[in-house]
Amino acid sequence: MDKVLIIGGGIAGMEAAGQLLKLGYEPVIAEKEDHLGGHVAGWHKLFPDMMDASALIEQLASKLDGATVYLRTRVAYMNRLKDGYSVMLSNGTGLVCRAVLIASGFRLFDAAKKEEYGYGVYDHVITNSDLEAWFNGVEDFRVPENPRHIAFVHCVGSRDLKAGNPQCSKVCCMTAIKQAIEMKEKFPDAEIWCFYMDLRLFGKKYEDFYINAQRDHGIHFVRGRVSEVGEDIDGRVVLKAEDTLAGTQVKLKADLLVLMAGMLCNEDTATIASMVRAAVDSDGFMRSRDNIYRINESNRPGIFFAGACTGTKTVPETVAEARAAALDIHNYLSGND
Ligand SMILES: Cc1cc2nc3c(=O)[nH]c(=O)nc-3n(C[C@H](O)[C@H](O)[C@H](O)COP(=O)(O)OP(=O)(O)OC[C@H]3O[C@@H](n4cnc5c(N)ncnc54)[C@H](O)[C@@H]3O)c2cc1C
Ligand code: SF4
Repeated sequence: MDKVLIIGGGIAGMEAAGQLLKLGYEPVIAEKEDHLGGHVAGWHKLFPDMMDASALIEQLASKLDGATVYLRTRVAYMNRLKDGYSVMLSNGTGLVCRAVLIASGFRLFDAAKKEEYGYGVYDHVITNSDLEAWFNGVEDFRVPENPRHIAFVHCVGSRDLKAGNPQCSKVCCMTAIKQAIEMKEKFPDAEIWCFYMDLRLFGKKYEDFYINAQRDHGIHFVRGRVSEVGEDIDGRVVLKAEDTLAGTQVKLKADLLVLMAGMLCNEDTATIASMVRAAVDSDGFMRSRDNIYRINESNRPGIFFAGACTGTKTVPETVAEARAAALDIHNYLSGND
């Protein structure tokens, strides 16, 4: 049975492994953390259906019987052979595989770099990722007991040349709406505002999700950038913004401010790419052979991509790409290219 090495056991790596098993291959997942699921393992509900993130991970894990999974493991080095790759893993395991799937995902923008928002300085300023952890039961003193006023700031570290990332992260408008709805369900008396530059709601049911947030949950959407964040004597977050649609200045005291940190390339991308001499894009993500038809393919023989290692992706996009990558690998290995 041909072995296929999968670097990264997030939802992309898991789905691809499940599909490769069905196609008769022996997937070997090397995952650097101590669990599978990647970032999604840290999320609570998934837009737009509000499916439990844990239910998705369980579903993907249930299809991995027969796959080899190494946790807390990275690739130490890889050498190109005539017909595949010889690989040494950081746990001392050596293997020969015919193809490699890179599914190493993304990292979150470090919100502390946008000093004006006070992340790490003010108690009640948190990120989207912190809020997901709190929804999942991780205690966080920064979420007050009964917040009455909650604000979300979009585009933190995305579409921002000064932050070094001009790209839209694509998922954070929907993530803000999802989290605003969850907060409203937990705290029905709370007033919730989302401060956005543009709303980018491109997927199926996404526009409905937004309309529902306004109509059924009373969430306020303000078009305007937050220019200043401070803290008052009671520890409340004071923020100033311009409502660019109404042409007015807004000053708000919030019990909680949630920053929508963007998605950047994973910090290991360059190392992994250099091991197999794969190309990297100017934004640091892996470079696909093209961005229309061959997103799953690299410029190197036998090296494939799936998920957020090539750019920002939603869950359904990631899962669909992982399936496509498994089929591409099958075609490559069976000479059907
Ligand atoms: C706050 C937030 C909420 C979101 N909510 C939603 C939502 O509700 N709905 C939706 O559709 N999308 C959502 N997304 C997007 C979703 O998180 C991504 O689509 C998904 O995580 C992409 O999966 P992935 O497997 O490609 O990458 P990742 O989740 O990043 O997984 C990559 C895996 O690779 C591992 N890895 C990295 N480097 C190495 C290495 N060198 N060696 C071995 N392993 C390595 C990592 O540890 C990780 O396990 C959200 C994103 C954010 C930021
Ligand atoms: S998805 Fe929305 S919040 Fe995220 S970067 Fe794009 S416009 Fe900004």
